[in-house]
Amino acid sequence: MEGPFSSVSSKVGRVATYVAALALASCTASATTGDQPDFAVRDVAVVLRSSEPFTRAADFPARVESTLEAALEYWGGSWDDLAGRSITFEGSQTVTCGNHSGAFGCFDGDIRLSTRDPAFPFSCVEQTVLVHEVGHAVIGDASHQDPRWMDFEALMSRLNGRRGYTANGEADCQLFISVWQHPPDR
Ligand SMILES: [Zn+2]
Repeated sequence: MEGPFSSVSSKVGRVATYVAALALASCTASATTGDQPDFAVRDVAVVLRSSEPFTRAADFPARVESTLEAALEYWGGSWDDLAGRSITFEGSQTVTCGNHSGAFGCFDGDIRLSTRDPAFPFSCVEQTVLVHEVGHAVIGDASHQDPRWMDFEALMSRLNGRRGYTANGEADCQLFISVWQHPPDR
């Protein structure tokens, strides 16, 4: 039948177009990983370099999108703040960010973040530092002077209680506000 086939082929066409656009953008962007995106959310390329179960769950793209949406709202931003950027989920416990080698997340035009806490693997995207890094994409403020870096209460209640994924199957995904918070740098 034509229906399913054309639906699949148009999807493939969209992805291919997107990758080409991204390749063009990387000629002018200063910091790109060179990795092909695994999928896109709006105009944001998502790269998976982690095998944590939540990154492989069927609802992952939708969870990334709804988490980004909530974070953008918290920071007073819009999808334009993320357009053309990439988000890379790393399996390593830390990522290198500028001169820092022990960061959990990084915004340098693109976002890279770990899918692990020092003590345990995260079981949902909401637990990661993603909402923190979105803050840098929206307001900059590298030295964390804005009081919202120590708040996150509204965002927490909005994102809490979602499903998590562990090596042993599905579980609740408890959020820890301290993962997102950062005191002002001196
Ligand atoms: Zn920060």
